[in-house]
Amino acid sequence: MKYALVTGGSRGLGRAICIRLAGMGIPVIINFRGNEIAAQEVSDIIAGNGGKSELMKFDVTDKVGVEAAIDEWERNHPEDYVGYLVNNAGIRNDGVMFMMTDEGWHGVLDTSVNGLFYVTRRLLPKMMMRGHGGRIVNVSSLSGLKGLAGQTNYCAAKSAVIGITRALAQETAARNVTVNAVAPGFIETDMTKDLPQEELIRMIPQKRFGKPEEVAHLVAFLCSEEASYITGQTISINGGLL
Ligand code: NAP
Repeated sequence: MKYALVTGGSRGLGRAICIRLAGMGIPVIINFRGNEIAAQEVSDIIAGNGGKSELMKFDVTDKVGVEAAIDEWERNHPEDYVGYLVNNAGIRNDGVMFMMTDEGWHGVLDTSVNGLFYVTRRLLPKMMMRGHGGRIVNVSSLSGLKGLAGQTNYCAAKSAVIGITRALAQETAARNVTVNAVAPGFIETDMTKDLPQEELIRMIPQKRFGKPEEVAHLVAFLCSEEASYITGQTISINGGLL
């Protein structure tokens, strides 16, 4: 069977993406870093909808941990492979550059960039060799396209995700593996709950934050058969905030 792996699938966008992909009949591996209760909740929702899922705990920044978790999964699933990968795990740690600590800088880049690399590199050979094609969707951000004061670390990470997407798409195109990115604006999740929403929505033409489910629909489309000729692209989803 062809599984989907969603990094950071326990909360926010990842949670909605897991539920949406499972609703398409795809068995989903819900990755989480620490919050097992939230990950189990996602799995229970999927089961309640008649879908199939498994939990997989690893920290995307831990190369050894990533490889060990996927090695173990492959041992237990000799007939299966991960044909859909959503690199969603990400963190924010905002601050102006002149006050930014090493930890603040590296933590954000490690999660969005190095984490994406460790997971994707590990899964690519099977995805390309199986001959059934594959889908990789990377979660970037409006910040990665536009740049935002107080987020040099996050903007660097999310711009890198776009660059990786463009380059990797060219490496995998002939193997029928598409690689795209989504660039959400402000979406209602734990990551944005400390932001002044009332103030920010004044800048958003649609006058609201997006919902995780709206991003999940876009990711689901990019994972579908209908999106097979779309690769190397970054699709914005931001209520008109340019
Ligand atoms: P969130 O609500 O804070 O959830 C973050 C998820 O990532 C959680 O499932 C968390 O797992 C997981 N995670 C964090 N670090 C991890 C690591 N090192 N290894 C494995 N999993 C890790 O965030 P979100 O808003 O859903 O954001 C998801 C993605 O969308 C991120 O890449 C973010 O940058 C991007 N994004 C978000 C927005 C927005 O407005 N919300 C906008 C643009 C882009 P645990 O539950 O185990 O902690």
